[in-house]
Amino acid sequence: MNSAKGNLAYFREPLELSLQETFSVNAPATFFVDVVLPLYLPKLFTYRIPESMVEEVVVGKRVAVQFGKGKVYTAIVFEVHSRVPSDYEAKYLQAVVDEHPLVSDIQIQFWKWMAEYYLCSLGEVMLAALPSGLRLESETRIVLRNADEINYTELTDKEYLIVEALEVQKELTVKHVSHILEIKNVYQVIRSLFLKEIIWVKEELVQTYKPKKVECVRLAAAYQQDEAMNILMQLLEKKAPKQVDLLLGFWQLSRVGNAITKSELMKQTGCTAAVIKSMVEKGIFESYTQTTDRLKAEDNIPETFDLNEEQQAACDTILNDFAWQGVNTETKPVLLHGITSSGKTHVYVRMIEECLKRDKQVLYLLPEIALTGQIVKRLRKYFGSRVMVSHSKFNENERVEIWNRLSDGKIDIIIGARSAIFLPFNKLGLIIVDEEHENSYKQQEPAPRYHARDAALVLAKMHEARVLLGSATPSMETYYNALQGRYGLALLAQRFGGVSVPIIELADTAYERKVQSLKLNFTKKLLDEMEHALENGKQVILFQNRRGFVPLMECATCGTIPKCQHCDISLTWHKYNNTLKCHYCGYREDMTGTCKACGNHDLKLKGFGTEKIEEDLTTLMPNARIARLDSETTRSKKGHEKIIGDLEDKKTDILIGTQMVSKGLDFENVTLVGIMNADQLLHFPDFRANERSFQMLIQVAGRAGRRATQGKVIIQTALPSHPILQLVIEHNYVGFFHHELKERERFHYPPFYRVIRIMLKSKDQHILNEASEEYGNLLRTKLGSRMLGPELPIISRIQDYYQKQILVKLEREGTSFASLKKFIKQQTETILGKHKKLIIIADVDPY
Ligand code: ADP
Ligand code: ZN
Repeated sequence: MNSAKGNLAYFREPLELSLQETFSVNAPATFFVDVVLPLYLPKLFTYRIPESMVEEVVVGKRVAVQFGKGKVYTAIVFEVHSRVPSDYEAKYLQAVVDEHPLVSDIQIQFWKWMAEYYLCSLGEVMLAALPSGLRLESETRIVLRNADEINYTELTDKEYLIVEALEVQKELTVKHVSHILEIKNVYQVIRSLFLKEIIWVKEELVQTYKPKKVECVRLAAAYQQDEAMNILMQLLEKKAPKQVDLLLGFWQLSRVGNAITKSELMKQTGCTAAVIKSMVEKGIFESYTQTTDRLKAEDNIPETFDLNEEQQAACDTILNDFAWQGVNTETKPVLLHGITSSGKTHVYVRMIEECLKRDKQVLYLLPEIALTGQIVKRLRKYFGSRVMVSHSKFNENERVEIWNRLSDGKIDIIIGARSAIFLPFNKLGLIIVDEEHENSYKQQEPAPRYHARDAALVLAKMHEARVLLGSATPSMETYYNALQGRYGLALLAQRFGGVSVPIIELADTAYERKVQSLKLNFTKKLLDEMEHALENGKQVILFQNRRGFVPLMECATCGTIPKCQHCDISLTWHKYNNTLKCHYCGYREDMTGTCKACGNHDLKLKGFGTEKIEEDLTTLMPNARIARLDSETTRSKKGHEKIIGDLEDKKTDILIGTQMVSKGLDFENVTLVGIMNADQLLHFPDFRANERSFQMLIQVAGRAGRRATQGKVIIQTALPSHPILQLVIEHNYVGFFHHELKERERFHYPPFYRVIRIMLKSKDQHILNEASEEYGNLLRTKLGSRMLGPELPIISRIQDYYQKQILVKLEREGTSFASLKKFIKQQTETILGKHKKLIIIADVDPY
């Protein structure tokens, strides 16, 4: 075929291929295929289709192709055509992997939209969209799942050969397999072995996969009715208190909806295995086994509930705008603007029911994977095992399994973070975007830098599905769209159960500093409230938007602040291991206690992070039980659960946290929330600073007094008259929106303008300066005053890369966004072609 042949020793070429090639040169109607390779290539690649495969090649299937030297990839068929590529000789594709398309037409359309809208390549979208378990290539390794469970009778000859080899060699690359089989298309065989659950495609998964059986218990059928249970409880109460404990523990665990393991039950209740055994013998419990990775929800009887009047009215609005009831024929997305604790989730549940009635799938998007636990628990109460989670922490094989089950229509409800929009829905009916204002919906790195909410709106349109956006503090864009009538608007203005929203008060740090009542960054006002809460047996959450001990260490003599060697960023002192750390690149150095510039030993602490607050509090309130929730204490998955669990179980009096505490958590006994420093938020140098501050403050405040008692929030600030803080005190979202909207219009920002932020990066400052000058001039020919820069961004160096920034602002009306983006893309390619060692990153709708 070509010179790469030598490297392809393992991929022996079948004779008919070479023959075909010889004869087809002048033959009419040769077909070509454009494929998406899982690589960061700017363009699609074209291959020639061998005549024998023409029938089989269909858009969305995987095909095996050779790319580069000796590397074989599975690529996705994007288009079949008969245009001969002009600038290179198309190679033959090697094999068709799938019987049915792996990627649906809608997905292909969606990928295409994403690449165009977010200025990236289809390969980049594919890398984000396809689990790597579906992106086999010649270096991919496979291993046996469980040698003891193989049913040899169901294997074909080829499969048998591979299994045999795996039993001896433990793991094989795809390349090896093709050597063993002496055929090129090994992918079909591998795929089949995977579907038969015989092999794993090897990633990190091997260590995480434990196909262990665990012992579970469930209530015997006779006791599944409340009445029977009550009688039993009364009977046991006097004679067997341990068994009552066990029942209560069981009942608590069962609210989650998962299967309950014996060990879990023992841990929860402190009961011994003997107690469980005796209850099994009495016929109260039944015992059974399950594999640990299949601990799916048991299908218990779904709970029922009634909506209050406001929720009912919101549902009616949504149903009408969805054209699921009433006279509307057109449908539109709906914003559910419901204050914190107003009961948005129950409205979502009703809409999910409506969607399932229509036999369609539901995608429930969450901003953060850490929140899935709570939501899954809540949804499983109503939908049991129909609820599935798509988790980025899942191993590749689990992700592949979800992929397959979803595209077969075997999953009804998927909960997931932003990447769940790439899953292969075959009958999507509803997308719920919970906390739609959250900036974690925006993918930052790597490309595609998409916003999952915006992408969800596009995806829904392709599926003719409905979209429900929910938030207590909607994004400027969304609320604007609702006021313009592009979206429907449903309102929940009351907290569920009639609890009032918390009282928000400001504590003036500047004033308290002057009168010397400020203790270690705590105002007297906040400390008094905290003491009051603890005296009444209540709990407190303190919010500080920075982790670490103190952000800065400043020399008292020369004013020098230690900086990262690779970034233009001050280092943060972490007291627990006495290091200075860069939060951008992870660089760390030991804290020597001496100023590197002048040698002085007098270093002062500036600012304060979560760790410092924790330490100060132990001095100020030595008897309180204090915990900290930030990315440091939650590094392990269990860390997060434990900290939350301790708060729920009232083992913690005061929880100090970063923005992690602001999101969706629901604790009944927390009546006071303290915000340590609102000024940091307000001063953030970004056009969204006001919006983010308002959202964050209202969301954190929403954690206070969600149940029986009205909560209180104390915001510490040196700027008590700041207009945003005044609006926060009033819980005045609409007031905030109109205040902010004027600013946005004045300074040409969304929702009136679209923003593209272009970053140029290079390790070589000279190249950067030269290239960005040239690039800027090219862009300016068409963009004129619509662009700012190139200029130094707030952080001029990150991880040894110098950077320059260009900001493009385009009017929403009257400009062709698509054609301007095309222009930007062309200029980018020109400059990148000229300057090596240069990176250009375009971020459309940056957050
Ligand atoms: P939001 O998501 O709007 O902040 P939640 O959905 O968490 O609010 O609701 C707040 C509380 O009110 C939760 O404890 C929830 O279980 C309860 N709740 C809301 N609506 C209902 C309902 N219709 N029936 C029973 N409980 C409800
Ligand atoms: Zn750094």
